[in-house]
Amino acid sequence: MATSEEMLQRTGFEQVQFLRDPATGVRAIVAVHDTRRGPAFGGIRRRRYDGLGAALADVLALAAAMTWKCALADVPAGGGKTVILAAPDADDVPDADGAARAAGYALVGRYVEEMGGRYFTGPDVGTTDDDLRLVCRQTRYCASPDADGPGDLGDSTAQGVFAALVATAAHAGRGIDGLHVVVQGLGAVGFRLARLLRAAGARLSVAEPSAATCERAAAELGATVLPLAAALRTPCDLFAPCALGSVLDVAAARALPALAVCGAANNVLADEAAGAALHARGIPVAPDFVANAGALIHGALWHLTGTAPPPERIDRIGDTVRELLARSRRDDVPPGALALDLARQRVDAAPPGPFLPRRRPAAT
Ligand code: NAD
Repeated sequence: MATSEEMLQRTGFEQVQFLRDPATGVRAIVAVHDTRRGPAFGGIRRRRYDGLGAALADVLALAAAMTWKCALADVPAGGGKTVILAAPDADDVPDADGAARAAGYALVGRYVEEMGGRYFTGPDVGTTDDDLRLVCRQTRYCASPDADGPGDLGDSTAQGVFAALVATAAHAGRGIDGLHVVVQGLGAVGFRLARLLRAAGARLSVAEPSAATCERAAAELGATVLPLAAALRTPCDLFAPCALGSVLDVAAARALPALAVCGAANNVLADEAAGAALHARGIPVAPDFVANAGALIHGALWHLTGTAPPPERIDRIGDTVRELLARSRRDDVPPGALALDLARQRVDAAPPGPFLPRRRPAAT
């Protein structure tokens, strides 16, 4: 394995911290990618990983995406992320009674507090409101799910993805009324997005492992329930990935029977080649880190200014997607590559040096 210094240089990261709770053995990684535009923001993901290397790869990709997300959302902040390794892959973790779970969140909370405002955290896949409350007990630099916090971030993400989706459909020459959308994943964001789509007249097909959630979607939204594997094979106008990342590899991109792609899932394209394959087929893809910036915009501006932004601030995501897709068509470049380029330019234009919070004067 590369030394820490080699890893930071190779990846361009400012800081990667490995944490281990000696009592339970639970492990976590906190990564801060780039803070030249402001303090880092990024939620806590908790899941099973195939070892520490897989967890590291995930946290690095997610934290970097947060940097680009902040830059394109015009939020004065940078990218960070935390992953907690859940049992059984962290096979030294006795998880059955929840003690290790709680210890993991408390461990992360203590470290985030120690960072003194250089990194703010919040929810991500695998982290519940109760988990967040454990973090908030340890640090003020976490988005509380309660009345003392910024409010419902999942709602803001769904609102932003909806704005992006309207822009993407319009780019493909379609309105939302009558649009057939396949929503993959009906979690915190996917279900809310499905509701917004239904209210605007879309026809829904959904794929989701939870049978109870599927029943609710069928009853409440008139959705057609698909087997999980059919999500990528069902002809539709728009594919909305709202589960985990890397669902579109080159083979899937070459076969996807959709006119356009726009969803909430982070890092949905497995690699650049998948983006190029969709572009070559004339399928517009709203870059995920642009479309799903609603929670970041809401949470970061709340932390930085003390108030939640107005809904119009999140709807501006639609304008950004519209401009990117138009430029992608004009310049014949995949929209994801364009977005990344633009984000990098904005980050490189920031003053040099990492963001270091001002230390509070010591109590006398
Ligand atoms: P979530 O965990 O609440 O929901 C994910 C859903 O996907 C769950 O209902 C799960 O059962 C389902 N799922 C898992 N495997 C699936 C499969 N193979 N096929 C179909 N469905 C599957 O997560 P979320 O908060 O709704 O986030 C969804 C995605 O959006 C994630 O990639 C997340 O990183 C991203 N995202 C979320 C937010 C936010 O505010 N919550 C913000 C930005 C990005």
